[in-house]
Amino acid sequence: MSNGIHRHTSNKQCSSPNKVSLEEKSKSLYSKMIPFDLQPIWLKDNEFLQTNYRPINNSYWKCIKTMFLLHTETFNIWTHLLGCVFVCLLTLSALYIHTFKLSDVKIQLSSLPTIDKAMFSLFAISAASCLLGSTTFHIFTCHSESTAKFLNKIDYLGTTVCIIGSSLPLIYYGFFCHPWLIFIYCTVFLVGGGLCCYISFSDTFRRRDYRKVRPTMFILLGLTGIIPICHIISMRGFTEVFDRYALHWLCMMAFCYIFGAFIYSMRIPERFFPGKFDIFAHSHQIFHMFVIFGIISHYECLTSTVSYYSNHQSICQANVF
Ligand SMILES: [Zn+2]
Repeated sequence: MSNGIHRHTSNKQCSSPNKVSLEEKSKSLYSKMIPFDLQPIWLKDNEFLQTNYRPINNSYWKCIKTMFLLHTETFNIWTHLLGCVFVCLLTLSALYIHTFKLSDVKIQLSSLPTIDKAMFSLFAISAASCLLGSTTFHIFTCHSESTAKFLNKIDYLGTTVCIIGSSLPLIYYGFFCHPWLIFIYCTVFLVGGGLCCYISFSDTFRRRDYRKVRPTMFILLGLTGIIPICHIISMRGFTEVFDRYALHWLCMMAFCYIFGAFIYSMRIPERFFPGKFDIFAHSHQIFHMFVIFGIISHYECLTSTVSYYSNHQSICQANVF
């Protein structure tokens, strides 16, 4: 693939050695998109996106330049890059500058104890890492096979880290007065996450026929969170838990991740209109947007939870929970 690109460039230069303008050079190097069929086999993933793939270029700098061109990965890159910036700004603002809450719950994170800040930061850092890993993967998939494979594993690793980093704070607050339960559930999540990391780093996992297995594994890890939530509800009742943990935001988060993964694995809408969503609004971009919505929903859930505990410092002594 790479040889093909270079051959194409050198032919052009031979026919008019000194008259190739900078613009033409740029077009031949960076703007020459290729159809699905001309992609190397290891990069073929979604046959319903038929055109506008970037050619392999073996250059990190050229890959970065393609961020500003229109192709199948353009909005995959920008959705998660801008999402990462948004999460970072939102968190820094909440922790160090002033109250920043999307819903009506008031919270002043900057005045909370270190452990609360740490829990909030754990969630934010894991979410930002996930988005950054994904952005990096999508920028550099056109570099080479080895780079794309490695960054693909980093992308899956980021997803696992995001699920773990989102779950641990909720377990901490969910079993606030029960350290042993915190320890047990955290251990279960860390072991499950470690298993996902191991599977993510296996080459088999990247194969096309594993397209449905990939989101399923992450959904299963995420759904493991239902067990501690049911446990908390059995201890305190649905209404109390619903109010205390903003369960509606947690349900919204679960919906976003599951629905996004469903769209991704089913390749909707491009499967119904092959070639019509090659650049904009294909399943991968929709999945990315739902990941952002899921992270924002989780942010809302966590701030509500932290807010409750910041106003009930002596909750364990009072045996309220
Ligand atoms: Zn992606």
